[in-house]
Amino acid sequence: MPSVAFDTTLHDRLGELGQRVLGGGSIDRDDARWLFELEGTADIFELIAWANRIREHFKGNKIHLCSIVNAKAGSCSENCKFCAQSSFYQTESPKYGFVDPEPVEAAAQEANQNNVTALGIVAAWKGLDEGPMLDEVCDRIREIKDGGKVRPDASLGLIKKQEVANRLKDAGLECYGHNLESSRRFFPEHCTTHSYEERLDTIGYLKQAGIKICSGGIIGMGETRQDRCDLAWELRAIGANVVPINILNPIPGTPFEKIEKLPPMEILKTIACFRFILPRQEIMIAGGRTVNLRDLQSMIFAAGASALMVGNYLTTLNQSVEKDLQMIKDLGLDPDWDADFADQDVMNPAEVALQG
Ligand code: SF4
Repeated sequence: MPSVAFDTTLHDRLGELGQRVLGGGSIDRDDARWLFELEGTADIFELIAWANRIREHFKGNKIHLCSIVNAKAGSCSENCKFCAQSSFYQTESPKYGFVDPEPVEAAAQEANQNNVTALGIVAAWKGLDEGPMLDEVCDRIREIKDGGKVRPDASLGLIKKQEVANRLKDAGLECYGHNLESSRRFFPEHCTTHSYEERLDTIGYLKQAGIKICSGGIIGMGETRQDRCDLAWELRAIGANVVPINILNPIPGTPFEKIEKLPPMEILKTIACFRFILPRQEIMIAGGRTVNLRDLQSMIFAAGASALMVGNYLTTLNQSVEKDLQMIKDLGLDPDWDADFADQDVMNPAEVALQG
């Protein structure tokens, strides 16, 4: 019989870290760096097996579903190099102003038919200030809320005043999407029209207003593994309730159009590392999964994902909701639309200490 090489050191260290997280403890930054640097299919599969156990332990077999409606598209004043909606770049992406109640109502109806938990109103602009646009946004939020079909979420850019966050909360907003996008170090490599600090300040206003935070980032923009690790760490520090992971889908016309795609195993490893660092959070796989993971996309749940963005993304198409639901059921998982998606205490004592 040929002997099979088995790295007991790696096996033991992964087992020790996995057991620690399952027991309610945290890994430290050195441990996290080590996880992100794992290479080779066998080692990554062992990491994924632990990430799956951690997901099951903290999240059960429920997979939460979210969808978005683009309420204002294109012509954005910002220069995010990955984005088809920036006015700095020539892309095929549609352009229209803030939409009327009917398309949002139609999106809420469709989301409800697909058993989707929440509908996020998304707008391509720098941010939201007091004035007629805030009134309109609050009207749309109230309409979705009063419709009672899906929970209204929003992703409306930077907020610079506490009053704006308070108005959104009063209108019925429960969760706001505002990605950090990448590490603090890498952020200026993809955006120079606003800063990382402004993003963190926005999250501060939202938390102060009692709004839950959906914040994650995009991988595959040319950042290092250290940057991905730092992003996960920052998301832990801000206490994000939901952590969307997008994978860059290089859009023709943007500066990132020729960026080489990440290998699927590197993507799955990144999801698993996020699960180790953020064991209680909803880790949601969002844009770019179909083009980047291809036949491996069902493995995101084994790698630790507990939520899925379904329906089309802002500027790119996704596979059908029916196919996503079938994929979840085929894995023996439960697409969940009843539970309160982000209404969970994401902090463990170690994380509270970290922020204090
Ligand atoms: S990511 Fe958002 S802020 Fe940046 S260009 Fe696109 S729509 Fe504008």
